[in-house]
Amino acid sequence: MSEMMKSYIEEAEKALLHTYNRYQIVLEKGDGVYLYDIDGKKYLDFVAGIAVFALGYNNKEYNDTLKAQIDKVLHTSNYYYNVPAIEAAKKLKEVSKMDRVFFTNSGAEAVEGALKAARKYAFLKDGKTDHEIIAMNHSFHGRTFGALSVTGNPHYREAFEPMIGNIKFADLNDFESVLSQVNGKTCAIILETVQGEGGIYPATEEFLTKIRELCDEKDILLILDEIQCGMGRTGNMFAWQKYGIKPDIMTTAKALGCGVPVGAFLMTEKVGANSLVAGDHGTTYGGNPFACAAVGKVLDLFKQDNIIENVNEVAPYLEKRLDELVERYDFIQCRRGMGLMQGLVFDRPVAEVINKALENGLILINAGSNIIRFVPPLVITKENVDDMIGILDSCLRSL
Ligand SMILES: *Cc1c(COP(=O)(O)O)cnc(C)c1O
Repeated sequence: MSEMMKSYIEEAEKALLHTYNRYQIVLEKGDGVYLYDIDGKKYLDFVAGIAVFALGYNNKEYNDTLKAQIDKVLHTSNYYYNVPAIEAAKKLKEVSKMDRVFFTNSGAEAVEGALKAARKYAFLKDGKTDHEIIAMNHSFHGRTFGALSVTGNPHYREAFEPMIGNIKFADLNDFESVLSQVNGKTCAIILETVQGEGGIYPATEEFLTKIRELCDEKDILLILDEIQCGMGRTGNMFAWQKYGIKPDIMTTAKALGCGVPVGAFLMTEKVGANSLVAGDHGTTYGGNPFACAAVGKVLDLFKQDNIIENVNEVAPYLEKRLDELVERYDFIQCRRGMGLMQGLVFDRPVAEVINKALENGLILINAGSNIIRFVPPLVITKENVDDMIGILDSCLRSL
């Protein structure tokens, strides 16, 4: 590592609040599926800024759209209409088949909005203020108080109690555990279609189907958090589209802006017409022309560049190559995942492997202490997969 990089890292540790144990590299630029640090070292990136840079780095058409929007206007206000937001909402409706869109600045804020919409929907039905929400153990929905309250990992919540009230937890893929928490106060069930941070656990079709039926029967709103698993990553635009069901409310963020901070919560007309109204919810930045120019272009490029087709072509190959590692190494227990959202489960912490990979020019990340998560840019090729496996395999061999 250069002296320059060392001194930047020292400065960072003095100035930034220590909320992350950061890997010891200072990244400077990206191109396609590669990132470069300030010493010019090249890395193959299988993290994509945690499932963000779906289109790869430095996409010219995307960059040009952002530059053009900067020269027009960055921000107005949600008290006025703007064309990029109108276009982005229209396109997002088209790919999701949802009816109403609210743009946010982050995933956590999308979750906040979804929870508020669900509570308002229930409030308008019976005028009561004691409604309950069921969330899943091992889930992750973000770091703000509402999102944290439905995050099923006590470690994230403990020091910040009390959370918002009336949240109950059940187990993903255990329908009975959900059913046992349902009562007349239940207004919503929230879950990630594929759990990300919790360790790459896809919901089973049986589970989601039963949850949908339960929600229909009792007029409980199903909120699907697609912030990590959505936007093409699992081989459909949104992961739930594979299951033949539809949520009442869904959240998206991460790859939605491909690097521009933006999220959204979307709802069906039933919820849209019976929940949040003027004065109930708002945001200064959310849905501004700059962020929405990014969203609109991302959705255009998904179509134009056949991003989802690429996921469906490359993902089975990634699965096959990862399965070979499961066969080869006793300390790897299994592979889990959907599409280009995969996890390799180890019988031990994976930090050493990830650090070794980094030294060898490969960026990987964990999900929990013993799982390596693979959430690469959605434009990766089979050759990129081979390169990644080559580096990872040599790191594993040297353990
Ligand atoms: C990342 C993530 C969030 C939080 O998004 P932020 O933009 O970090 O606030 C919420 N839900 C899921 C499933 C996520 O992966």
